[in-house]
Amino acid sequence: MLVLGIESSCDETGVALYDTQGGLLGHALHSQVAMHEAYGGVVPELASRDHIRRALPLLQQVLEQSGSPLSAIDAIAYTQGPGLAGALLVGASVACGLGLALDKPVLGVHHLEGHLLSPLLAKDPPEFPFIALLVSGGHTQLMRVDGVGRYTLLGETMDDAAGEAFDKSAKLLGLGYPGGPAISRLAEFGDPNAYKLPRPMLHSKNLDFSFSGLKTAVLTLVKKHPANICEQDKANIARAFVDAIVDVLVAKCVDALKQTGLKRLVIAGGVGANAQLRAALNAAAQKRRFRVFYPELQFCTDNGAMIAFAGAQRLMRNPDAATRDYSFGVRPRWPLEELPAA
Ligand code: ATP
Ligand code: MG
Ligand code: FE
Repeated sequence: MLVLGIESSCDETGVALYDTQGGLLGHALHSQVAMHEAYGGVVPELASRDHIRRALPLLQQVLEQSGSPLSAIDAIAYTQGPGLAGALLVGASVACGLGLALDKPVLGVHHLEGHLLSPLLAKDPPEFPFIALLVSGGHTQLMRVDGVGRYTLLGETMDDAAGEAFDKSAKLLGLGYPGGPAISRLAEFGDPNAYKLPRPMLHSKNLDFSFSGLKTAVLTLVKKHPANICEQDKANIARAFVDAIVDVLVAKCVDALKQTGLKRLVIAGGVGANAQLRAALNAAAQKRRFRVFYPELQFCTDNGAMIAFAGAQRLMRNPDAATRDYSFGVRPRWPLEELPAA
């Protein structure tokens, strides 16, 4: 079964073709980061307009890469939510328009299910059940995953998401947008003993997180310095921030594994690309004898491959998951737990 996937929930347009027998046959991505950079964040209206410009050329690219004609597609999966309403509507209308024109069924996919299942696209995928840490720009959640659509929320952030904390702290250090990768690189040069930041909710005895205080702590450190803060001081602050956030994320993952007795941990979402987080998780896994699985780096942040894959997983379990009813609606807010089991 050949599934076309279309992602457009935020500032990346992604298109991919996934074959349930042959795996990922092609994928193409356009990131709007450069366009939004000047505004210090995503401008929703600009995002929607750019998705319109990019969707069909990306589709063309994927078809050329894979050597498959459009007519070979069995179904079209698109991100139905959560995300920016206008951006989601572009992907949904492209998918439903294509479906109508080609007489192929369509399927709305939950963006976070895409992230959550993306490590299964890797060479050595985990088996169910596992614990998933979803750390993205908009979410930080620990889930127990017993199968496709069988998700139990164990804990989540009370305020900022981990990616948001990375981006906001990076901004305070003048590192541009999105600052996650930049603050991570800078932290490599920081002295771990220069500053200590709090570990929010480390001893909260539950699996919830809170990251907004960390950003305030970074602000306080930045304010202590003169306007011409030197590079080494910036690196030291970056290091203190990264060490704090990584400590909390790793400790809560270990707690979730202990509480459930599970031995497999899956990391998903953009912050899953973070080198310090991966190093700390790998060390914890070795020490505490669990296994940790990551998506390929290119599939940590938003992409079409994870949407094609998630759509295919649902269709393999239930061919009726896709429809030839081409009326569509998007769901800018959509709790993952509302999804039915596949
Ligand atoms: P959501 O999926 O919750 O709707 P999103 O799609 O915007 O949010 P993703 O695309 O999964 O989020 O991830 C983007 C986030 O990941 C950004 O906040 C970005 O700074 C962060 N990020 C990406 N790479 C790294 C890295 N190497 N280190 C830290 N953060 C990173
Ligand atoms: Mg993005
Ligand atoms: Fe995302």
